[in-house]
Amino acid sequence: MVQQHAEHDQALVRNVHPSDWVNPEPAGRYNLVVIGAGTAGLVTAAGAAGLGAKVALVERDLMGGDCLNTGCVPSKALIRTARAWADVRDAEGYGVEVPSGSTVNFPAVMDRMRRLRAGISKNDSARRFRDLGVDVFLGEGRFSSPDTVEVAGTSLRFKKAVVATGARAAAPPIPGLADAGYLTNETVFGLTELPRRLGVIGAGPIGCELAQAFARFGSQVYLVEAQHGILPNEDRDAAEIVLRSLLRDGITLLCCGGDLKVARAAEDKRLSVDSHGQHYDIPVDEILVGVGRRPNVEGLGLDTAGVAVEKTGVKVNDRLQTTNPRIYAAGDICSPHKFTHAADFQARIVIQNALFVGRANASALTIPWCTYTDPEVAHVGLYERDAGAIRVKTFVQEFEDVDRAVLDGETEGLVKVHVREGTDKILGATVVGRHAGEMLPELTMAMVEGVGLGRIARVIHTYPTQAEAIRKLGDQYNRTRLTPFVRWLFRRWLAWTRGTR
Ligand SMILES: Cc1cc2nc3c(=O)[nH]c(=O)nc-3n(C[C@H](O)[C@H](O)[C@H](O)COP(=O)(O)OP(=O)(O)OC[C@H]3O[C@@H](n4cnc5c(N)ncnc54)[C@H](O)[C@@H]3O)c2cc1C
Repeated sequence: MVQQHAEHDQALVRNVHPSDWVNPEPAGRYNLVVIGAGTAGLVTAAGAAGLGAKVALVERDLMGGDCLNTGCVPSKALIRTARAWADVRDAEGYGVEVPSGSTVNFPAVMDRMRRLRAGISKNDSARRFRDLGVDVFLGEGRFSSPDTVEVAGTSLRFKKAVVATGARAAAPPIPGLADAGYLTNETVFGLTELPRRLGVIGAGPIGCELAQAFARFGSQVYLVEAQHGILPNEDRDAAEIVLRSLLRDGITLLCCGGDLKVARAAEDKRLSVDSHGQHYDIPVDEILVGVGRRPNVEGLGLDTAGVAVEKTGVKVNDRLQTTNPRIYAAGDICSPHKFTHAADFQARIVIQNALFVGRANASALTIPWCTYTDPEVAHVGLYERDAGAIRVKTFVQEFEDVDRAVLDGETEGLVKVHVREGTDKILGATVVGRHAGEMLPELTMAMVEGVGLGRIARVIHTYPTQAEAIRKLGDQYNRTRLTPFVRWLFRRWLAWTRGTR
């Protein structure tokens, strides 16, 4: 995963798994023992220690977990370069003459990512958490009884515990894949050379983000997806807009892919797949698998602790309590929403429920998400397809009619807001656009705070901004409120005011 020889990765490891770390002497009985120092574990530990609780945090690998080391942070660093490249590629359209032959220096891109990741890793470092008052234990954690965790030969007794051990890439049962070898998010950020030809299996968020980045860096990318199109869980209009962009980047999409097999060839690997009635047999240098996540439940002694596990991970109730009422879970280990911000807010629920008289419910969280392709797709709440018996009215604002998007040359995209019919109550929203992730929080806040779409129209949005698209939707909604009588009255009033001038 990390390049131990690389200077920046050494700095990262010094922060998040220092080789000279000496585990502290355990306190008598901890208020909270947290297993796993990814986002869920870190937020739980820091929050609980800040409240004065005696907290132990156990991590077997790199503190910061997936997000810092093999997920959000490295992927978004690469995506930033991919955008920079697209801006150079499209510069002529903005009147900028760029010398032809500009290329991406892949080792420099990876070095930038490692440098930034190492810098950010200070926030998740063992020393920082020790300074916050947390007892940090490096080693594999395992329950040895319903109220004890073992780590590196030490027993940690607890009043409450939290399982925050996250998830890892699932290995799909594709014939020949294991034998040929493949990359996942755990290994792809360790690449030092750009694969000339890259097969990406799975056109979900991880697959699409990385497929686009590598295509922009110069790889010939083949994106294989079992379902039709890309981003199968997303709004179909949104997915269609992103797909157009991926195709422009030169990605070959092999969707509705069936009978997928992988073979190891003399000098490369071969992807064989049926897509839309045609058979493909494609030589590639690397295969990146971006389908599915498996919860890290093995070896934790969950049985011994009386913690039940189901297929999707640790079983929890709405208070994030496991079947052992003293043990909670948070983050990817138990959540269908596998996002850093979801892990963060679940951790806050756990703190409240484990250390106080618990009343916070996970189902009360409004969890947005964003896929950081270019354009981005950000979503919160209901999709039209899930409305069921709820009657929904949808308002759409294309970026084509938003001045700032026109001036930015970023007209590809739209904002879609679903309201409960007959009201302006926002039930869900999708933004597709270059800055969708930055725009969505306004709509998420409106949902959380019960601000209707009509009221958003009253908020002055600075001109020219792409966020004006959201205010325009408010205007659209308000226009539907004008009855024929009000329109008639308004016209008469306008005519009268003209006459009095
Ligand atoms: C490529 C990629 C890109 C992503 N991009 C985004 C994004 O842009 N935005 C977003 O919101 N989310 C993103 N995610 C998802 C995000 O990374 C996860 O949702 C988040 O990291 C979950 O945090 P967590 O604390 O639940 O688990 P993790 O981060 O997985 O942390 C779990 C920790 O527990 C440790 N552990 C496991 N077992 C034990 C044990 N027995 N003893 C001790 N320690 C143990 C692990 O080593 C790990 O450090 C991305 C994921 C991937 C793979």
